[in-house]
Amino acid sequence: MTKRQSGYADSTITVNLDAIVANWRFLDSLSAPSTKTAAMVKANGYGLDSGAVATALAAAGCPLFFVASLGEAIQLRRHFNKIGINDMPIMVLHGAQIGQEDALAANQLVPVLNDLEQISRWRLFANKTGATLPALLHFDTGMTRLGLDADQADWLIQNRGTLDGLDIAYVMSHLVSGELADDPVNARQLVSFNELRSWFAGVPASLANSAGCLLGTDYHFQMTRPGIALYGVHPLETRIPDLQPVFNWQARILQIRKAAAGDRVGYGGTFELQRQSRIATIGVGYADGYRRQLGGKATVSIGGKTAPVIGRISMDSITVDVTDLDQNSLRADHASLIHDAYPIEAMAADLGTISYEIMTTLGQRADWHYQSGSF
Ligand SMILES: *Cc1c(COP(=O)(O)O)cnc(C)c1O
Repeated sequence: MTKRQSGYADSTITVNLDAIVANWRFLDSLSAPSTKTAAMVKANGYGLDSGAVATALAAAGCPLFFVASLGEAIQLRRHFNKIGINDMPIMVLHGAQIGQEDALAANQLVPVLNDLEQISRWRLFANKTGATLPALLHFDTGMTRLGLDADQADWLIQNRGTLDGLDIAYVMSHLVSGELADDPVNARQLVSFNELRSWFAGVPASLANSAGCLLGTDYHFQMTRPGIALYGVHPLETRIPDLQPVFNWQARILQIRKAAAGDRVGYGGTFELQRQSRIATIGVGYADGYRRQLGGKATVSIGGKTAPVIGRISMDSITVDVTDLDQNSLRADHASLIHDAYPIEAMAADLGTISYEIMTTLGQRADWHYQSGSF
């Protein structure tokens, strides 16, 4: 969970925890005061360190946290214990898998029960231990991934006694296409979810991921579960000025060299210079999560000026054409890899992926810095 910080790495990732808190507050402000805004910190806080993110958000008043697996949940519980935060609810999306019951209970974790088998497993364990155990019930309203399917939901509604011994804290579902505000599947899921909910009168409900937070209050219910928007990525096509970027990715300029027209750059000599050029070699490569497919596509920012990445991406370095940069810009010792003219969304588009995948595959080799309170 904590990051290596030798202080001498050639690339640096600086996480602005205040910006994450500001994004959480903004998302929280979209819903009614009675609606809780949870924080999704699965995948180690979308790659940024779940402990650091959760510490900042808990201090700001975030009342509950979600992770994917039991392993992530235990790590987060230990972190909370270490910093003296007790009884913070931690929800585990993958639920109670075989043999995980003891560890879930011992760490005061709340499994999201995704099918009848998980329900009976958690209930048997509750009966065995004589405790009333908390859980969330997850209904699948169109995702076909996790959650009770329609038949299981029907059966459960007819056999409510199955839930005896369990304290169902929330019923929940998950949006298929929340990021496409006009997709009719959103409204269809909302109808299905409201129908299911009506069978669980008095039980709080949760449907919205980040995109759902922005779809309007109909989608908010008693708890929202944003992830990516906390980390400053815009879930809908339209950008929201209130969401701030939360991290900065920079790498050291290792060398600036002259090259002649006709010289070839990098492995395979794939890029032939058409003019006398100046090339900067920068200390970040695919081992840092700067993906190989970005060669010839990405740009970096040096001293506020944009320069194209040329030739192949190496394991430890990239090459950038800085011929057109003025001397003043070239006095900079670092390049910004994600910048105004090349935001994370543009990098994701060049890679044929989404910002989520870039964030969660950022390399571990960088020096990671966490800033708060000083902005
Ligand atoms: C990951 C996840 C979220 C958060 O999604 P974002 O798009 O990152 O906001 C919410 N709910 C469930 C069930 C998830 O798996």
